[in-house]
Amino acid sequence: MYKKKTCKYSLKKLNTFNINVNASKIVQVKELKQLCLLYNKYKKKNFPCIILGEGSNVLFLKNFYGLVIINRIKGIYISESKKYWNLHINSGENWHKLVKFTIKNKIYGLENLALIPGRVGSAPVQNIGAYGASIQNFCEYVDIINPSSKKIKRINKKKCNFKYRDSIFKYSYKNYIIIAVGLSLSKKWVPNLNYNDLKKLKYSNITPQLIFNYICNLRKKKIPNPKIYGNAGSFFKNPVISHILGFKLLKIFSDMPFTLEKNNFKLSAGWLIDKCKFKGYIRKGVMVYPRQSLIIINKFNNSSGMDILKLAIKIYNAVGKKFEVWLEPEIKIIGNYGEINPYIFFKKIR
Ligand SMILES: Cc1cc2nc3c(=O)[nH]c(=O)nc-3n(C[C@H](O)[C@H](O)[C@H](O)COP(=O)(O)OP(=O)(O)OC[C@H]3O[C@@H](n4cnc5c(N)ncnc54)[C@H](O)[C@@H]3O)c2cc1C
Repeated sequence: MYKKKTCKYSLKKLNTFNINVNASKIVQVKELKQLCLLYNKYKKKNFPCIILGEGSNVLFLKNFYGLVIINRIKGIYISESKKYWNLHINSGENWHKLVKFTIKNKIYGLENLALIPGRVGSAPVQNIGAYGASIQNFCEYVDIINPSSKKIKRINKKKCNFKYRDSIFKYSYKNYIIIAVGLSLSKKWVPNLNYNDLKKLKYSNITPQLIFNYICNLRKKKIPNPKIYGNAGSFFKNPVISHILGFKLLKIFSDMPFTLEKNNFKLSAGWLIDKCKFKGYIRKGVMVYPRQSLIIINKFNNSSGMDILKLAIKIYNAVGKKFEVWLEPEIKIIGNYGEINPYIFFKKIR
């Protein structure tokens, strides 16, 4: 059985919120065999176990009394058919480096997803997306392993149930680890410039490299660098609400931005948060980022996970009361023994 007092290895540099918590054991793995051996060794000792890429989508509330596996299993394998480049990427590869690598090798399509932090293995979990694209547009399959039985399964794209910041991996296959992702990129490149911020790039000699550079610059301006201000990108998802509630809100807030999605309204969580006057709000060193209210920052990198969670709950309640819209957290919350159901903290109040 794990001992609380032996929890002495720092996770501060392994989570982008820069929360100063410890784990009982942290091991970086570079091979699948090593991952299975380690996982089984600690499971036998009854240690809780979590796998991390870069910790850019997690909030640690407390010390973690268990084993943290840092996935660095690398490898990119390329094959081609007449119309497509097929990439099989091991899950420990860095996502942004993969995007750069593809463009350098004249394999195009991923440029809209530049500069998203994290590793390839985490990307399908929340179906990463930005600037009008998401991994589901390119994903053919996700390979997962049950480290106890060493059984490997291939989950084809249809079975991944990809939705906006969502996939089957959030709910099922909890005892599995993603070991590789298969992407398919068309040899016939068509720029994806439908996103509002990109419309000005609609000129005839646009290239993937130009879109990549443009998006990197935009992101650097808008999104805080976690090395300076700890953060995990968007704290909440943009809410999707019924058209009935949507029209009701439009009558009161005629300037409310929205897009229509299959008859539902997709709202801007940042706008809702701004309307509740949280832009730039700071408490106990935790701040609503003034340039993008959807991002909560650990301004001095010395606040606790609990301080961050408290502000997020305050925002959730204020938005819920004002708009009857209950935000859904995008990040994973981790407690002493593993992931915690966020709805323990985020409860609708009437
Ligand atoms: C500054 C900033 C900007 C961001 N911008 C975006 C954005 O534009 N779009 C977007 O979608 N996201 C964005 N994010 C969120 C984040 O980049 C993504 O969610 C990313 O995929 C997380 O990768 P990670 O390796 O850091 O995952 P971690 O935080 O390490 O892990 C996230 C979850 O996945 C699980 N996991 C990790 N690896 C595996 C594996 N191999 N098998 C099974 N489960 C695994 C973990 O246990 C955890 O539950 C941003 C984050 C930051 C800090």
